[in-house]
Amino acid sequence: MTRRSSKSGDGGGEEPVDERLRNIEPRMIEMINNEIMDSSLAITWDDIAGLDDAKNTIKEIVVWPMLRPDIFTGLRGPPKGLLLFGPPGTGKTLIGKCIASQSGATFFSISSSSLTSKWVGDGEKMASLRCGTVRALFAVARVHQPAVIFIDEIDSLLTQRTDGEFEASRRIKTEFLIQFDGCGTTNDEDRILIVGAPQEIDEAARRRFRKRLYIPLPEDQGRMGIVRNLLKKQNHSLTDDEIAELCRLTAGYSGSDMDGLCREAALGPIRSIGDIRTISADDVRPITFADFQNALKQVRASVSDKDLELYLRWNDEYGSLS
Ligand code: ADP
Repeated sequence: MTRRSSKSGDGGGEEPVDERLRNIEPRMIEMINNEIMDSSLAITWDDIAGLDDAKNTIKEIVVWPMLRPDIFTGLRGPPKGLLLFGPPGTGKTLIGKCIASQSGATFFSISSSSLTSKWVGDGEKMASLRCGTVRALFAVARVHQPAVIFIDEIDSLLTQRTDGEFEASRRIKTEFLIQFDGCGTTNDEDRILIVGAPQEIDEAARRRFRKRLYIPLPEDQGRMGIVRNLLKKQNHSLTDDEIAELCRLTAGYSGSDMDGLCREAALGPIRSIGDIRTISADDVRPITFADFQNALKQVRASVSDKDLELYLRWNDEYGSLS
């Protein structure tokens, strides 16, 4: 440990600084701590409906090794990265959070597009700032390990660095790969798992991740689990048969489509209220099946058959569970 002067300048002493953060700008560390790190998660496997095969595999290959690094060594050593691919809104982020929560790890979440998107103004300066963010992210994760770093749209950081590309964007990708590849190799003791969720799946993602799990659209039981879970704390009148019927009517809906559908249906009782300012909360009528029938007209399945076909083909060829 070294010491860094306290920022407040109150002369009240110095804060201890971890060696691993010595070359990282304090404002970057603060930004990671405030915006990217979340150590207060309480997500259980039951919060994720369906996906039994994926959940079982994940427990075995990444959660248990994080809990018992002394047993999972050598051949049993965990992968340093896990690719979760599939249509949007199927629970990939939720799984990332659950892995962290269940293995007592700190959760970091960042979207690649926030790092690689084009920017206005000084390109060089912005590139340095974003490279600094990437370095700080991995350094802070090392300090707070075990850690799970969830990277949404990871494909934009992994795609080939081409000649025509902006220099700034190349720099960020290079920095990311240095950090990614350094994870677990510079120090075998590091317990950092990188969970990547690509927007588009490609060759680069395949090469970087040894474990690639397909997270599909929820099946009937999965959709039923999501609806039941969301209705649990609501005043509603849906019978088991109606919930089953709802699941039949929502084939092809993603988890987040189901979430959107339930939110829309929940507004039904509110829309029939005359004066929202005076009604007592107890007088709001229960959510009914008819509210869901109306909501079905508004909220449609968001994933196209064409996209689904692509994921399925890729899973057949490269998925770890196929
Ligand atoms: P992704 O990362 O795959 O795009 P998310 O994990 O962000 O999707 O899911 C978006 C929302 O959809 C979640 O916050 C949750 O409300 C709901 N959801 C999606 N899949 C599931 C699931 N399998 N179980 C429970 N909720 C789900």
